[in-house]
Amino acid sequence: MSLSSLKITDVKVICTAPNRIRLVVVKVLTSEPGLYGVGCATFTQRPLAVVTAVEQYLKPFVIGRDPDDIEDIFQSAYVSSYWRTGPVLNNALSGIDEALWDIKGKRANMPVYQLFGGKSRESAPLYAHASGRDFKEVEENVRKYREQGYRYVRAQVAVPGLSTYGSRSTSAGGRATWEPTPYCRIVPKLFEHLRSTLGDEVELLHDIHERIPPIQAIGLAKELEKYNLFFLEDPFAPEDIEYFRLMRQQTAIPIAMGELFVNQNEYVPLVKDRLIDFMRVHISDIGGLSMARKLAAFCEFFGVRTAWHGPGDVSPVGHAANLALDVSCYNFGIQEQTVFPEETRAVFPGCPDIHDGAMWPSDRPGLGIDVDETLAAKYPFPEHPLNGAWPAIRREDGTVIKP
Ligand code: MG
Repeated sequence: MSLSSLKITDVKVICTAPNRIRLVVVKVLTSEPGLYGVGCATFTQRPLAVVTAVEQYLKPFVIGRDPDDIEDIFQSAYVSSYWRTGPVLNNALSGIDEALWDIKGKRANMPVYQLFGGKSRESAPLYAHASGRDFKEVEENVRKYREQGYRYVRAQVAVPGLSTYGSRSTSAGGRATWEPTPYCRIVPKLFEHLRSTLGDEVELLHDIHERIPPIQAIGLAKELEKYNLFFLEDPFAPEDIEYFRLMRQQTAIPIAMGELFVNQNEYVPLVKDRLIDFMRVHISDIGGLSMARKLAAFCEFFGVRTAWHGPGDVSPVGHAANLALDVSCYNFGIQEQTVFPEETRAVFPGCPDIHDGAMWPSDRPGLGIDVDETLAAKYPFPEHPLNGAWPAIRREDGTVIKP
């Protein structure tokens, strides 16, 4: 496309697991000595499939291309498999795409958020995760975050005898067991306790994590409305998104959705029909920054705010990509935080700073983050019979449930 002599000369896939979380990062090298970019391609439940997709398919596809042509590389790589989207191919594409934005920023001598229009805010407010065995422990953990300067805290409580999302399992006999009804009974009582002890100032969030039948999610949302949550997340599985239409008619509780979305046909209808309030996609799972910045702009026109997925299995490179959009998008809502431990920060020099309940951008060019390949190699993927895949969670009768 372009007449520049700059070329992509190599693509490397870096697998590393500091903190025992399987991370995949792609490094795109260019014909200019020392000029390279990094991108997040972490799909921690199927990392080896992403490695193959990058090494065997995208690497030969992009070598020799001009790294300046981000949009054309994205569009042509996207259709090069004919069958497209899905978490494996989208993560592979994200590794390349984010690395190209990193290179573009380095060439412009600007942070990526400058390429996206500059700062709309100085930092990205974060929400922290507070959990506990009982209401009192959750309350104490919320207070701890408040003392550290957090305004937004997600609250999850254990359900006695069950393996509950977001808090320590109390299942007996080593089997991950889950029942929806005890959970639906306990959660409104948790928020009654938190509001009566903590007051109204703190912004509280909660994640259902697609674990309950849709009609029970609607009932729970109605019960929680009076506690003024900042958002209620993933009330339905992606397979059940038609239920949002019914939920919206019955409650004004703010809804966050989308961490499992991989395809435009999942998220576009929810935005255009104004059925959700926060877009939660995992940026590498929709194909990287090129797709995410378009999605953010689309959401802006419909009053939907961003709340990019930010767990520990988004690599620090992915968090830097989240941050580039967080500070530049007008319709930023909130950012989920992960505080990376020392060994992870050492593997990823330039890992975004977190203090005062917010993530702060640097003024380094590109994504402002690097990967130390020598150090990364000291943390190989841990041995695991399923190579990182999640084991089943079952109801008491043995039925497998969505995780
Ligand atoms: Mg979630």
